[in-house]
Amino acid sequence: MKKSDLEEIKKITLDIFNHPELGYEEWKTRGLVLDYMKKYCPDINYQEFARTGLKFSLPGSQDKALKMCFVAELDALYLPGYAHGDPETGAAHVCGHYTQTGIALALFKRLIQDQVYKKLDYAIDFVFVPAEEYVDLDHRKDLRDRGEIFYFGGKPEGMRLGIFDDYDFGICTHTMGGSYPKDSVEFLCDLAGFLYKYYHFEGQAAHCGFAPWDGINALSMATSFQTNLGLARQQFNESKMVRVNPVILEASQGINTIPDSITLGTDIRSNDLDYLTLLSKQLDRLAQGSAYAFGGKLTIETETGYLPFVQDKYLSQLCLDFTRDQYSQFDCYTNRPVAASGDIGDLSYLFPCLQIGYSGFCGRPHGLDFNHVDLDFVLDRFPSYLFDLFFHLSGKIDPKKLYRRSYQDYKSALSELGGTIHED
Ligand SMILES: [Zn+2]
Repeated sequence: MKKSDLEEIKKITLDIFNHPELGYEEWKTRGLVLDYMKKYCPDINYQEFARTGLKFSLPGSQDKALKMCFVAELDALYLPGYAHGDPETGAAHVCGHYTQTGIALALFKRLIQDQVYKKLDYAIDFVFVPAEEYVDLDHRKDLRDRGEIFYFGGKPEGMRLGIFDDYDFGICTHTMGGSYPKDSVEFLCDLAGFLYKYYHFEGQAAHCGFAPWDGINALSMATSFQTNLGLARQQFNESKMVRVNPVILEASQGINTIPDSITLGTDIRSNDLDYLTLLSKQLDRLAQGSAYAFGGKLTIETETGYLPFVQDKYLSQLCLDFTRDQYSQFDCYTNRPVAASGDIGDLSYLFPCLQIGYSGFCGRPHGLDFNHVDLDFVLDRFPSYLFDLFFHLSGKIDPKKLYRRSYQDYKSALSELGGTIHED
């Protein structure tokens, strides 16, 4: 990339880094993207969605048989105290999403030059999505109550609005996490799905000295549930990458009164959608048993988070072959699944998706020491690699190897998880 082009992209990327915004509030970031895209392609078609989301279609590629969406995430997450964070909102770019936007702009610039994208046998749309991080939930509940959004995640919200209706496959990028000695990329890193639950245990308050036998101890029910859960871990299938993290969210307790109310919350993660449904029921039984044993009451609330993400093996293999043949200067990692989650899992329910990992960072993802160390790789060598990769894919994708499901199918999958679906 020309030096002046790279400097411009770096400036925008660092501007986003230093002015992080939480999901559905990425107004400044969105403005930077829109200005850049219009500057280099004044006749570009674009659509606004989900408050801050933007979808761009490059001119003259509507009639291509295959359509790909290249997805970048606009939002930061919540980490007060981060040196480059927003002291008022607590927003901080400690998951690298600011560079996803930079990469998308750099790739766009390469494709739009001399309209080379027209030589691809598939169309590329650029979709900038809000709110990938599952944070700031009170505000999002508020937006949901006002009818402005229905999903906390920007991709499912875009799916609801039909933004992703026309695509055959999707590609996004994400930082790999950790430090790497060489330019590195990653494929086939699957993510877990998650849902979260609230267990409200209700007992009976009584004087703990005068007549404790008149009470029903909600803390005992919650403790029993935690013990049951600890014992039940033996029954969790370890190939399903289960994670459960129970925490006490609310408790009415005084030292001279039998506690009558406790709310315990937990997320539940697994890399397998069906197994997630089983787990959810298993946890419910453990909680029901605990309430029953003490004669108390239990109310359960389930909220769906994101679906598990299984990277598309067919497309990944095409990319891997190219990378190993043509980019041997890169280290290429594969098959390192993690129990983190992303709403790319939801999008991949509709059509095959890839999330390509890239190096260039140091410190812990979501931690105070996270930062970029090699923006030249991230914003220049990596987008150039993607450009070459996308030309390599042209003419090689067999549409019969791709799948397609509808938004209605997606909603059925969500309802099987047992969560509340806040849909009109
Ligand atoms: Zn992230």
